[in-house]
Amino acid sequence: MIRHDVVVVGAGLIGLATALALVRRLPGADIVVVDKEREVAQHQSGHNSGVVHSGLYYTPGSARASLCRDGRQQLLEFAATEAVPVLESGKMVVAVRPEETGRVRELAARGTANGLRGLEIMDNRGLEQHEPAARGLLALWVPETALVDFRQVALALRRRLTQLGVQFELGLSIESIRHEQDQVRATSATGTVVGRRLVNCAGLQAELLARGAGLETGLRIIPFRGAYFELIPSLAGQVRSAIYPVPDPRLPFLGVHLTRHLDGGVSAGPNAVLALAREGYRRRDISPAHIGALLGYGGMRRLAMHHLRTALAETWRDLSKEAYARSVAAYLPGVTHRDLRTGASGVRAQAVAPDGTLLDDFRVVTQGPVVHVLNAPSPAATACLAIGEEIASQVTALGDRPQR
Ligand SMILES: Cc1cc2nc3c(=O)[nH]c(=O)nc-3n(C[C@H](O)[C@H](O)[C@H](O)COP(=O)(O)OP(=O)(O)OC[C@H]3O[C@@H](n4cnc5c(N)ncnc54)[C@H](O)[C@@H]3O)c2cc1C
Repeated sequence: MIRHDVVVVGAGLIGLATALALVRRLPGADIVVVDKEREVAQHQSGHNSGVVHSGLYYTPGSARASLCRDGRQQLLEFAATEAVPVLESGKMVVAVRPEETGRVRELAARGTANGLRGLEIMDNRGLEQHEPAARGLLALWVPETALVDFRQVALALRRRLTQLGVQFELGLSIESIRHEQDQVRATSATGTVVGRRLVNCAGLQAELLARGAGLETGLRIIPFRGAYFELIPSLAGQVRSAIYPVPDPRLPFLGVHLTRHLDGGVSAGPNAVLALAREGYRRRDISPAHIGALLGYGGMRRLAMHHLRTALAETWRDLSKEAYARSVAAYLPGVTHRDLRTGASGVRAQAVAPDGTLLDDFRVVTQGPVVHVLNAPSPAATACLAIGEEIASQVTALGDRPQR
């Protein structure tokens, strides 16, 4: 049986970027990327808003803030080298209620502390000059936001990795991870992959694999479904860049926003509702075992208690297209449910602590020769190359360069 130097489980952006950083740190090493799907980026990395975030929202000094800034730059350079199209669109954060205007100013201060350039607070007149169809009391222009198709980024990473000699084992679902002395065995129904080191980048499944490997951190990954709508083509011209509401500071989600994509289409979304299956992309995807596990977790019950009103409002908006359209019409007046067509959906892997807190920073935990990525929320797609560097440094810190 081949014993690889490093096994990376998960061919989403985090696994792929980690493999790339490992190639740089361990030239000549035997690295394999394993995924249960037959192509890369079939989950979060291929079902997201496609926004290259600027780093506006994150607490200055947090890993999320610095990895977003570094990662954004690396991503733009990578996309340019690999001819992946990027639209440098900018975005507008719009306050529509008086109580949100202070928060716009706070965001501007936070963005400045995070090193963003070109931020501009503007009144309704300034907003109209950038986004003629939008309305608000106060807005923040963020020129460093861009758009990309992250699936294209993942495919480019796969091509680059293949050229560099990294192997791919796709269609192999890992069921258990066991480490013994200085090697790790990742077992699926059809075979076992062995490595001296293993990186668990399994996104929605990462905590299940970690617990199966005997790592109990108390955290659970709770999946949140985000549904998108498409603005009908005759209205798409009303949106020039991306238009965001002011986010609720108690939640890690950014709210239903409008995004003009590279193909000229405009999406609205995503909302954030509890997914009733770990990969529950549709409302009707329901797993009784998953629901039982959620109800049995104290962190989930506390989360529900802390955010009951928001959860009910989000669920209503998920069920009612009229309610969804009203949240868009708050900053793009005149939009009704007739202007929205059902679009794609994504499921976020959101780590929750036993006290019901939604973890908003990245969480990586080492267990012997295994590195587990237990929380990689947005902007992890933007920041993937910087996060990959960080994870690879933890892998190499596990000991000397692995030898076969
Ligand atoms: C709706 C939504 C909108 C978002 N918008 C943005 C955005 O605009 N900008 C941004 O920067 N970020 C955004 N994000 C966040 C970003 O997409 C994710 O943080 C990022 O893609 C996480 O990448 P990942 O590699 O950790 O996870 P994933 O992409 O989910 O990859 C995990 C991989 O592991 C594989 N896997 C799982 N279990 C197993 C197993 N047992 N065996 C083998 N393989 C396994 C899966 O098949 C998958 O390919 C968004 C996320 C969502 C869901």
